[in-house]
Amino acid sequence: MGKIVMKTPIVEMDGDEMTRIIWKMIKDELLLPFIDLKTEYYDLGLENRDKTDDQVTVDSANATKKLGVAVKCATITPNAARVEEYNLKQMWKSPNGTIRAILDGTVFRAPILVKGIDPHIPHWTKPITIARHAYGDIYKASEMKIDGPGKAELVFTDANGNEVRELIHEFKGPGIIQGMHNTDESIKSFAYSCFNFAIDTKQDLWFAAKDTISKKYDHRFKDIFAEIYENEFKNKFAELGISYNYTLIDDVVARVIRSDGGFIWACKNYDGDVMSDMLATAFGSLGMMTSVLVSPDGKYEYEAAHGTVQRHYYLHREGKPTSTNSVATIYAWTGALRKRGELDGTPELCAFADKLEKAVIDTIESGVMTGDLASISTLPTAHKVSTEEFIAAIRTALEKLI
Ligand code: NAP
Ligand code: MG
Repeated sequence: MGKIVMKTPIVEMDGDEMTRIIWKMIKDELLLPFIDLKTEYYDLGLENRDKTDDQVTVDSANATKKLGVAVKCATITPNAARVEEYNLKQMWKSPNGTIRAILDGTVFRAPILVKGIDPHIPHWTKPITIARHAYGDIYKASEMKIDGPGKAELVFTDANGNEVRELIHEFKGPGIIQGMHNTDESIKSFAYSCFNFAIDTKQDLWFAAKDTISKKYDHRFKDIFAEIYENEFKNKFAELGISYNYTLIDDVVARVIRSDGGFIWACKNYDGDVMSDMLATAFGSLGMMTSVLVSPDGKYEYEAAHGTVQRHYYLHREGKPTSTNSVATIYAWTGALRKRGELDGTPELCAFADKLEKAVIDTIESGVMTGDLASISTLPTAHKVSTEEFIAAIRTALEKLI
């Protein structure tokens, strides 16, 4: 059988440490033997980011704007220890932050479900996808510690110098204050990404905030979502038989726990930060969490939700065996290839992505899995294999399907 042909390349963003090792294994064992793989390659490994003064990250994001689909390996976000370890020119910013700022996107995270890895909530039989607004609120806030009595006010000065004031509090003693913001533009981008992603994945969309208490701030989020939905998405949602619901955040938490999954939960920045960790833990393993950045104009960047698995990399470097889960990274590739196939009208590519995902699931459900899964699997056949053996087993399962 000939290799599957690709029309348009995808943007390939290589990365660091153990995920960089896995990246090459996935390409060599699971992709290149079957696909005439076309990628525009950017090396986002820390050494090359340093060498190019991080220009390579910016270039890879711009390439994603042009080609529409990217797949990214996990990358190191440098801290002081990394600056020393890699002898860096400076403490480069998080590549994910840089890419997100250029694409203006929203991150959607969803778990991969397999038999034997049971969520802590037993009736969560379908994945719950979290969409986190990644701009503003307390993450871009100004704070003050108040030492004694006095008056705190919000002051806005417009372009003509006119002031608007709102009393925050008359302090009788010490306390604290915080000023935060968001912009209509960013909330709109968030809303478009969410509505488009719901249509793309044919899932209901829930959005939650606290507009009963925050009658201007959170209410603005609710209104922007409602307006865009009514004007641009209501009919498409009806055609697909999916729904959009706005609910209070505390109400939605209760509904999520009672639900069987299968929907998108859009969260404001802080809610998304907290709730995504809760969901990842409740669903089982970080190695099974996928992530896709979707821009409001429909560009997609797929990756695993986990990092570079540094501890495993150091073992690997010492020549010791590792058992690192490659599933989320494989799904980053299948997500990107399927999206490329949909956009290019090449169903063979989509079918290949489906088969590779099935091969992964079949392998794990046959009892062959990495250590992180073996330690929590309820399958009697579950046993731990090495990083290499796991990928080889997937290759065997894939060959049976092709
Ligand atoms: P991490 O790479 O996600 O790993 C944390 C721990 O979770 C690992 O030590 C491992 O536990 C477990 N784990 C995560 N992924 C796994 C997998 N695929 N298979 C098996 N176990 C897995 O986070 P980190 O160690 O805190 O961060 C390492 C580097 O990744 C940092 O430099 C950070 O900047 C970067 N990072 C990048 C991204 C990204 O590019 N999107 C995201 C997060 C972090 P055990 O050690 O107990 O086996
Ligand atoms: Mg968090």
